This record gives sequence, C-alpha cells and structure tokens, in this order.
Amino acid sequence: MSMPFAGPGAPAVGDGRRDANAAAVLRAVLDHGPLARSRIARLSGLSSAAVSRQYLGLARLGLVRERPELTVAGAVGRPQVPVDIDTDGPLVGGLHLGVPLATHCLLDLRGRVVARGQTRYAGLSAEAAVRAAAGPLPAFLAERAQGRRVLGFGAVIGGWVDPEEGSVVRHHQLRMDRLPLRAALERALGLPVRVDNHARAIAQSEILFGRPAARRSLVHLFVGNVVDAAVGIAGVVHRGPRSAAGDVAHLPVADGGESGGDGEDGARCGCGRAGCLEALAGDAALCERAVREGIIPEPSVMLLVDAAATGDRRADRLLRRRARLVGRAAALLTDVLNPEVIVVTETSSMLNAEYLAVMGAELAERSHVCDDPGRLVGPHAGPAVLPVAGGTPALAALYRSPLRAASGGASDSDGC
Ligand SMILES: [Zn+2]
Repeated sequence: MSMPFAGPGAPAVGDGRRDANAAAVLRAVLDHGPLARSRIARLSGLSSAAVSRQYLGLARLGLVRERPELTVAGAVGRPQVPVDIDTDGPLVGGLHLGVPLATHCLLDLRGRVVARGQTRYAGLSAEAAVRAAAGPLPAFLAERAQGRRVLGFGAVIGGWVDPEEGSVVRHHQLRMDRLPLRAALERALGLPVRVDNHARAIAQSEILFGRPAARRSLVHLFVGNVVDAAVGIAGVVHRGPRSAAGDVAHLPVADGGESGGDGEDGARCGCGRAGCLEALAGDAALCERAVREGIIPEPSVMLLVDAAATGDRRADRLLRRRARLVGRAAALLTDVLNPEVIVVTETSSMLNAEYLAVMGAELAERSHVCDDPGRLVGPHAGPAVLPVAGGTPALAALYRSPLRAASGGASDSDGC
C-alpha cells in the first residue's frame, strides 16, 4: 500500500499530528455531516477542545462551516450548531484523459460536478494531445470557478500511471511512454497537480464519497477503450511497486464460443494470445465488430447502446456478450480478493441497468465465493464518473492532509 504522506511508522508529531487530527475531523464531517461537535469528538476519538480547535482551522480554510438552520432546539444542555463540509466554498479542478476525448471539470468538496467541459484530440501525438487538453483549462477554471478558490488539480488517465513520479509510464492507445503529465499540467495551470490511473481514482472516489462498504474493501473494473482495475482495502487504494497494480487487460476470459467461431479477429490480442479481456471486451474490439457487421456507422459505444435501445437485436446481443465477459472478469477478481463491492465502470451498463444485471448474474454464476449478483454495482457518480475521477486525486490529498493541501502545500504554521 502506498501513502504519499506520513508513511507507516512515521511518528505523527508537530504539523503531522495536527494535520492527522484535522483529517480525522474532516473525515467525520464528510461521512456523517451535518453533525454536532460532540459527535465529531466521539467519532474521531479527539477531545471536544481539540475538535473545536480543528474546526476553527478547517473553517478558516473554507473547508467546513456551521449550519445554524439545522440546530435542534429543546435538547438537554446548550444546543449545538451542526457543522458540515462547505460545498459552497473552495473547489478542485480535474481532467480525465480518455481515448477519443478529454473531460475537464470543477468539483465541490463532496466530489460533485460544479462545471464541466470536453476537448477532442483524436489523432494527435501524445504531447500534442496533452497540450490540447490543457489549453482550455486556465480560462475554464477562471471563468467557471466564479471567484471560488481552486485548491488543486487532479488528472487521471488509463494505463500505467506513476503518481509519485507524476508520469504516464505506458498508455498504448495514446502512445504515451514515460510522459511527464504532472509537470506539463503544472506549467499550464500554475496549480499543484496530482496524477493517477483513472481506475484507481474511481476506486478512491468510491471510498471517499460512495457506499460505506466500499471503504472496507472494493474492486473496481474499468471497461472502456482501456480496460483496467483497482483494489481498495480498508480505505487504501493499492498501487504496489512502481504503481503498476491494476493491469487486467490480459486477464483470460474466453471460453468456448468467445474465442472460436464467435469472432476470431476480436479475440486476437496485441500480446499475441487469444481470449484477453481487453481484446474481447474493450470498446475498440466491440465497436470494430459492430461497424463490421453494419450495426453502427462509426465506432461509438453510445451509438451501439442507442441501436439496442431502438430494437436492434444484434446490437443488444453484442452488448450482452460484453457484459458476460465483464462479469467473468469480475468473478476472477472476486475469487482472489472477495471484496465487499465490485464497482464496474462501463458505458452500456450506465445507460441501461439490464446490462449491469447481466454482469451481476455472470459474476454470481462464475464466482466460487460470491452468489450475490447485487455485489456488482455501477459507480456512485453515475454518468459523472469521468469528471469526478479527474478531480479525485486532488480531493484525496485534501482529505488525507487538509491543512497542508488547502494552504497550498506549505505547512500550516499559525498554531490552530
Ligand atoms: Zn493480451
């Protein structure tokens, strides 16, 4: 497990301890707010005096605020004014670099989209694509933040991303090879930028803002043009050596019909084997086959879902087949990790719950440890999943180390 700040064994003293206490208060408010200070003390294990001190420090940074209109009168003792995350206060920016296009956004401190936009960059080189995606960002942030402070910026992308180094180690579809993404964006924005793999960022957003069970353990499977995964245990998303965890593109999921007569071409993977998950179930394979069979005029999963919704049985058959393959991959990962939740980010299941049900049924049928189709769910953010993922590395840094992140990375020195 990798934790950028205060690694295991590091003594929490001075600024580190103050930030850890501030984080405990902020997390209690995130999870249970609006709530009274006395309850924050119980949840965080801090004294009421410490909670009040931390509250003042966090309020001064604009992260929390009182909600006097929610005060319950008539309770024994002095009524307590509940406190909550200030969702009208500072924001974070985010960028998701997808394969045909990039999505940028502003998120509030509960990870909700305040504004969003898109940039198309198909056909550009890796460096030119990053420049194209970064181009509109300064004006977008200045105009759409409407005077609210932007605390930081997150950028996420599929493939192998090393957050410590700030680089995209490898992304086949966008032809990126050791691309220094963080440095490029920090130059363009003049803001601290944190980068991560998009599947890990979505897992992190589930831990922060999604179902409580996701905090105990989750597997997240991203199935788009890129296919990758992330694992979170006890609230920590695993990265492993060189942050390489999550490459499930070559998970073997074919059996019988899938790699045989049922589309030999689609089954052949760039790695030389047959039956890999990405080669069978990725957007490129799915759309290529749909175009070849004359179901849709151009490669687009949205068009394929539309075709199925308007009664094209061939489109529906391709999408159900993909859903079964995804369910199979989910079953393999579930047998290894037995997570409480399996989150799948995939376009057709987001637009039509029937495909999510097919995935869940396949999981329950294939897994040796899980017979509950309901353990497989879509992302909590629904269709906003990509912009939310973009801003999540910045929000995760804020909730991990609020005083440091909200005061621009410098240590907080005014004795709160
Ligand atoms: Zn392969």
